[in-house]
Amino acid sequence: MKDIIFDFEYLTPKTLKEALELLSKYDEGECKVIAGGQSLLVLMKHKLITPNYLIDIKGLSDLDYIKLDDKQGLKIGALTTHRAIETSPIIQKEFTVLSEMEQNVSSVETRNWGTIGGNVCHGDPGGDPTPVLIALNANLKLTSLKGERTIKAEDFTSNYYETALQHDELLTEIQVPNLAPNTGVKFTKFSQIAGDYANASAAVSITLDNKEICSDVRIALGSVAVAPMRAKKAEDILKGKKISDELLAEAGQIASEEASPTTDAEVSAEYKKELVKVLVRRVGKEALERAKKA
Ligand SMILES: Cc1cc2nc3c(=O)[nH]c(=O)nc-3n(C[C@H](O)[C@H](O)[C@H](O)COP(=O)(O)OP(=O)(O)OC[C@H]3O[C@@H](n4cnc5c(N)ncnc54)[C@H](O)[C@@H]3O)c2cc1C
Repeated sequence: MKDIIFDFEYLTPKTLKEALELLSKYDEGECKVIAGGQSLLVLMKHKLITPNYLIDIKGLSDLDYIKLDDKQGLKIGALTTHRAIETSPIIQKEFTVLSEMEQNVSSVETRNWGTIGGNVCHGDPGGDPTPVLIALNANLKLTSLKGERTIKAEDFTSNYYETALQHDELLTEIQVPNLAPNTGVKFTKFSQIAGDYANASAAVSITLDNKEICSDVRIALGSVAVAPMRAKKAEDILKGKKISDELLAEAGQIASEEASPTTDAEVSAEYKKELVKVLVRRVGKEALERAKKA
């Protein structure tokens, strides 16, 4: 029988330090980190990447946690699985949108094994977590032997499967600030098959002043550009105003003009732009309702 995967050396560091030492020991291209393997193994089976060394970090239980602090907000270890986030009572109560988003990431089998860190680091423009993290104004903590740095989720992915991660760094933590009072956040994706990657997705966070005027808004889109993106011109339409259905429709129109999707095997670029129009209007309305009740 023909091999479906090439030979590589499988390394299982026991601590974060050991993992970082292995990463800095080998050149880029020579080694690769594996967490849940849900995205990486597909690339390896197709021989799109052929590392000599595979550094398995799934056993680093120190990076598997969900913590909420009154001052510092939510902290999620990079190795936390999609399923743990989906089912976390803390997240369901305080960051409902994260749990809702996870419910539609692939199947429960993939969610049981795949990690949020792996998803974000894969850098797929159609991944579900990153637009939500952008709407929540999250930061990502990156760690190497040289130390730690944080980067905004919105600055992390730069192009198809390209991120700000340096070869010797690991994503170790996702940091989500506590929601400001009167804030509502909502995410929706449109995909032709339930649980499949999105043809387009939108996450909207709205904060109201005195339950009426929009004092802050963040609109993030997935699958409609080379990387998850913020629709800043659409945000400007809503900021400082009392949000109406008409304004949300205008924001949807502007967001669809900001998006730069390409036609793929499933849907055309024009169709994706129409999806953005509808999703931003619809998700914006739901975020607004949540903000009014918050
Ligand atoms: C059938 C199927 C359907 C899917 N559908 C969806 C979907 O609808 N929506 C969606 O968002 N995703 C979907 N996915 C993708 C999947 O949910 C995630 O991408 C996957 O969970 C990645 O996490 P992982 O832990 O398996 O990462 P891996 O596959 O192990 O790694 C992915 C990449 O991230 C790097 N990496 C992993 N962890 C770290 C870290 N801590 N620091 C630095 N680099 C790291 C790896 O080197 C690799 O480059 C689907 C996957 C499958 C197989």
